[in-house]
Amino acid sequence: MRRVFTAAIAALTVTTAGTLVTGTPGQAALPGWGRPVPVAAAPAPGSPGLGDSYFPDYGNGGYDVSHYDVRLRYEPATDRLTGTTTILATATQDLSRFNLDFLLDVESVRVNGWSAAHTREGTHELVVTAPRAIVKGQLLTIVVRYSGVPSETLVGGYTGWTRTDDGALAVNEPESAWWWFPANDHPLDKATFDISVSVPTGVEVISNGVQPRPPLAEPGNRMRWGWRSTKPAATYLAFLSIGQYDIVTDTAPNGQPVINAYSATLGERGPAARASIERTAEIVDWASGLFGPYPFEAQGGVAGPIDGIGFALETQTRPVYGPGFWRRGANTYVVVHENAHQWFGDSVSVAQWRDIWLNEGFASYAEWLWSEEQGEGTAQELFDFTYAAYPEDSGFWQVRPGDPGADRVFDDAVYDRGAMALHQLRLAVGDEAFFEILPAWTAEHRYGNGTVAQFQALAERISGLDLDELFTTWLFTAGRPELTTAARATAAAAPAQPKSWTKIREAHQLLQR
Ligand SMILES: [Zn+2]
Repeated sequence: MRRVFTAAIAALTVTTAGTLVTGTPGQAALPGWGRPVPVAAAPAPGSPGLGDSYFPDYGNGGYDVSHYDVRLRYEPATDRLTGTTTILATATQDLSRFNLDFLLDVESVRVNGWSAAHTREGTHELVVTAPRAIVKGQLLTIVVRYSGVPSETLVGGYTGWTRTDDGALAVNEPESAWWWFPANDHPLDKATFDISVSVPTGVEVISNGVQPRPPLAEPGNRMRWGWRSTKPAATYLAFLSIGQYDIVTDTAPNGQPVINAYSATLGERGPAARASIERTAEIVDWASGLFGPYPFEAQGGVAGPIDGIGFALETQTRPVYGPGFWRRGANTYVVVHENAHQWFGDSVSVAQWRDIWLNEGFASYAEWLWSEEQGEGTAQELFDFTYAAYPEDSGFWQVRPGDPGADRVFDDAVYDRGAMALHQLRLAVGDEAFFEILPAWTAEHRYGNGTVAQFQALAERISGLDLDELFTTWLFTAGRPELTTAARATAAAAPAQPKSWTKIREAHQLLQR
């Protein structure tokens, strides 16, 4: 998935030089990355960022969120959003103040019941100063009341909130939370969620996880919808789809609830959307055999409205798909891609955004594996065809998937060369080791974070091979890698186009920019 905002925000921020953050499994957000750790225990401001080398001011230091309770009221007619978000967190240092990432108008902030001062800094920083000092290890209950019109709240001319004819979509990567809930907005700080939204009766609200209860009637001809995520989620993977939806529920082979939703605006694209998304449980069942147990409590998908997003996003437990994927009939490859992300990206998240290959390379390679499964072309055939499809002098080969740069996080190369890199790994270590590495990775970093270096180390441990040259060549070196003599012979023979190529190409053209 992706969006168009990275270049705009990259222009507004200054990249810090080379602070390598080693991935920390679990939810711990380390305080003060990228700055000296004070020796004295005097309360200090929480860092305005988590040291991400591409987006240094994304997320915040000094605390670790465990849960967000996001309680909203939305008016589709005006796009007005009012809300109260309650954040449960633990201080990871003595704090004189701390930041949240947020854009809407803040009415009040309370910290453990005490009214707290708040002000704005930079593009999206909300600076909160509690009247009492906060000590390391202290439990924090942060209550933020706010309102705004998210579609008109712009940063660098951009909003991550999509208003539609019948409602709205809060679906974007990497920036999404800013427009609807205050957060520690970086994948290093994952949390569970309760999300509830009051809308006029007749409007549906879809979000992550399960519905702990049916929608409740509220005064004024309104309904309040509630959704719950019981497994930790990165903030960009929480979502809202508000509008006219047909909701279809079922039970998956593993006993989990399947909740799919189809926009009523899809018209003649509706059947193709259903023929694709209704295969989610089958695809999750297949993927579980390759990647390990499905990590979450529910499955599903949302076919977004005709005037919504132009991409798809692996929102946790329930990807959201733009209408473009159904233009020429069903496309299961995008469903495979977004559901593979449930393991690669959602359960195991990037430690830094430059680790994006761990998301997009793996989700793209899952499509090649699905093509093999469906008898529509082997991964080797897809590799050969992709290698030949990009001439040696193509700019495609100049992007390094292992460190593409902040404005190329969702470049073609991260997806296609990223999948090619995994195929080269598979050839090098053999099928037995390769299909041992994938579930080992999702098990070791489940609900946490990972780095490319950690993945390489795991692959080396399981295979017993030194893979440094392979990773350096395929992920970190500009230029088209040379193939071995045998592989070169195949590629030179003008490989035939695999049957799956058209659908995979269509999906990727919408996923990449
Ligand atoms: Zn993706």
